[in-house]
Amino acid sequence: MPELPQMQALSERLDAELAGAVLASVEPLGFSALKTVTPAADSLVGATLEHVGRIAKYLVFDFGEAGRILLHLSQAGRLDVEEPPKRTRAKGSVVRFRWSNGKGVLVREYGTERKAAWWVLAPGDDGPLATLGPEPDTDEFAEFVLHGADKRRVHTILRDQHTVSGVGRGYADDALWRAELSPYASLASLDDEERARLLDAVRGVLADGLELERQRTGGLSKPKLGEHFEVHARYGTKCPRCGEILRRVSYESHEVTYCPTCQTDGKVLADRRLSRLVK
Ligand SMILES: [Zn+2]
Repeated sequence: MPELPQMQALSERLDAELAGAVLASVEPLGFSALKTVTPAADSLVGATLEHVGRIAKYLVFDFGEAGRILLHLSQAGRLDVEEPPKRTRAKGSVVRFRWSNGKGVLVREYGTERKAAWWVLAPGDDGPLATLGPEPDTDEFAEFVLHGADKRRVHTILRDQHTVSGVGRGYADDALWRAELSPYASLASLDDEERARLLDAVRGVLADGLELERQRTGGLSKPKLGEHFEVHARYGTKCPRCGEILRRVSYESHEVTYCPTCQTDGKVLADRRLSRLVK
């Protein structure tokens, strides 16, 4: 899933392509992806796009006084910038926006899960943004990491958008690896030094990720994003820090990658998926 760095860099590219253009048409192409009923899907047609930004993992198309369109790509949503916009309806198409400057934005989804979504919001309505936790670069998040008593695992906390917004499985894996903390570590169990390391690691992996993401051009089109992770999804290869083979723990919905030497005092954590296969 695209996380904060991918979405931030994408919002910057879209802002450069589209800010100042007028929304010419909106074509909903997929069922149930539009999460709002009012204002109508095409209510912002004719309005000038002031800015494309990002909040958490949402793209925010800001039309000023007229309202906003939010877009969430979820797991497998991708976005093409089309010039000129096509008339075809590619498999998995979600919505196509046409702009007065001759460009188009097509949102489509790969795979079978249909979770990419968009919202048309009236001025003052925050929609799904209302329940988000703070961004990782805020004082509020720093305070939470340095002094919070949350007993959940750090990996879980980082992926919880109500606690901190913009981080997913990929950068959660990388942040724990960079901080040299176990994927099972709970926030409440960390000492001051570990908390400071964690905060630096979260912000560091996101900043480094953003720098790399800013080298992309165009939309975010390919089903395989070609991510820049240090350890996420790289199990079976060598730890970039110590050379140990990276391991994983599998869950129904995701896998956690870690280095036993750097993160768990050499301990290999039980992998449920693996033990099921062995039976
Ligand atoms: Zn290591």
